[in-house]
Amino acid sequence: MNLSINHSCPSCGAPIQMKEVDRLTTCVFCEVKNYMVVDSLQRFVLPDKVPEQIAREDIIYFPYMRFKGNIFSCQGREVESKVLDTTHKGLDVALLSSTLGVRPQAMKVHLVDDNLSGRFVRRKDTAVTILQRATLLAEAFSQSEGETLFHRAFIGETVSCVYLPLYIKDGIVYDGVLNRALGEVEPWMEDEKSTVRYRQEWKTKFLATICPQCGADMYGENDSLILHCYSCNTCWAEKSSKFVRVPYSQVVSQTPETVYLPFWRIEVETRGIRMQTFADFLKVT
Ligand SMILES: [Zn+2]
Ligand SMILES: [Zn+2]
Repeated sequence: MNLSINHSCPSCGAPIQMKEVDRLTTCVFCEVKNYMVVDSLQRFVLPDKVPEQIAREDIIYFPYMRFKGNIFSCQGREVESKVLDTTHKGLDVALLSSTLGVRPQAMKVHLVDDNLSGRFVRRKDTAVTILQRATLLAEAFSQSEGETLFHRAFIGETVSCVYLPLYIKDGIVYDGVLNRALGEVEPWMEDEKSTVRYRQEWKTKFLATICPQCGADMYGENDSLILHCYSCNTCWAEKSSKFVRVPYSQVVSQTPETVYLPFWRIEVETRGIRMQTFADFLKVT
């Protein structure tokens, strides 16, 4: 299930809503289009209802690692697939439940930005740990337990971090989303070294959708990874926070109202397979 994300327009600061898969956003206030760069761990925060008497800089943001994706396993005689969308706490503490349940999907999360003045708890879990945990979950659902595993692949996976806001009142820790008491303060919460303030390198980057070749506006669907410039007839994709040109070709139709569907052209190199039939060819492509 896709997250629904709130963030501020990079041009005018107005609120913008987008889905997790979206890259292109258009601000309804300033009408500026921006392309979101996803080049590092995405950080989200659950919306809080922390009481006004608690200073915003005293809020503690606790990290949960989120894995979303498909796991394919070739095991025994079966090819199994499992769609996973799961969270797990990024630090092993007794106070908090091990997952966020359906909360990230049920609520509108916000991109972590410099408006959050609270402390962020450092996580111990890395992206590798969360992939290993996802593998264990896939194995738990497997029908071919004990059979030889030939291959396992993650397809379309994303790993992100969702912060749960917490606050302390009279020595009791509260869940800042539900305003519910969780228990007494634990030592890790008072250790300054276990937390950091917002870091500039976490800031989500946005690119103006201006064609690098001719300066015209580029177009695409909200979830497009390729943007089109209809002025100089070029296609562009984001790479290392820049738009780079993507070569394309087309099969020209005789009918003017034709809609052209895009396909990726992928060059494949393979060794050790004898290609004698068309079926052999399909196996490697
Ligand atoms: Zn705007
Ligand atoms: Zn152009």
